Amino acid sequence: MQTKFYVVGIGPGAPELMTPQAHAALQEAEVIAGYGTYLKLIKPLFPDKEYLQTGMTGEVKRCQLALEQAQAGKIVAMVSSGDAGIYGMAGLVLQLAEGLPVEVVPVPGITAASSGAALLGAPLMHDFAVISLSDRLTPWDKIEKRLLAAAEADFCVVLYNPRSHGRPDLLNRACQLLGRHKGPETPVGIVKNIGREGEQAIVTTLAELDENLVDMFSTVFIGNSQTYIQQTVAGLKIVTPRGYLEEAAQ
Ligand code: SAH
Repeated sequence: MQTKFYVVGIGPGAPELMTPQAHAALQEAEVIAGYGTYLKLIKPLFPDKEYLQTGMTGEVKRCQLALEQAQAGKIVAMVSSGDAGIYGMAGLVLQLAEGLPVEVVPVPGITAASSGAALLGAPLMHDFAVISLSDRLTPWDKIEKRLLAAAEADFCVVLYNPRSHGRPDLLNRACQLLGRHKGPETPVGIVKNIGREGEQAIVTTLAELDENLVDMFSTVFIGNSQTYIQQTVAGLKIVTPRGYLEEAAQ
């Protein structure tokens, strides 16, 4: 007997930002597992499910408990915010399921880079790099190398986990490094609580970025050398041109 174990990205928070495929997987599941914060977001949509809320248990333990449910024959869905395959649980579940009679089915979700970009305008129209500033599982010197390489290659950069409890200076340090190759006027966007209560989008520049505005529920966007800030009827937006107008003018 082989049971299904869905690893579901539920999007940033709002039910309308969850894909129909993710919705269907949660509908099919008998047990829904995940962090309390995310379960709270989906409980109203699926009130009759069995919930495996594992609180502050470590990630490995949490996945093992959920896999035990699957081995007992139940259809399980483990949820992550955004996309479960982007700094989520999909990789760990696959690793831990090796050799078990469990079919792991990843279901994609709208990641913060996508949902945040939409709130800011169109900052990611060209090549971009996604970098997490969390140094819990990645040595800081490796993060520094990636920041420098991305800035030198003139990528737009999206920073996940821009703030940690232990290290309030992460973002400033990252911006200093990016600033070695990006000008002080480079547009910066901060999006907070996308699809949740307190949603906010802030447009600023690398020189004026106030790291106190950034918390763990924020994602930070830094432009490339072509990115500019545009005044629109809906306020300031960030645009990274892809070059269509220049092509048309030729
Ligand atoms: N799997 C998630 C990312 C988890 S890492 C995804 O694909 O979006 C956690 C980081 O993601 C946060 O520190 C923040 O940078 C970003 N993030 C996740 N949800 C967010 C939201 N609703 N609003 C803003 N940023 C968010």
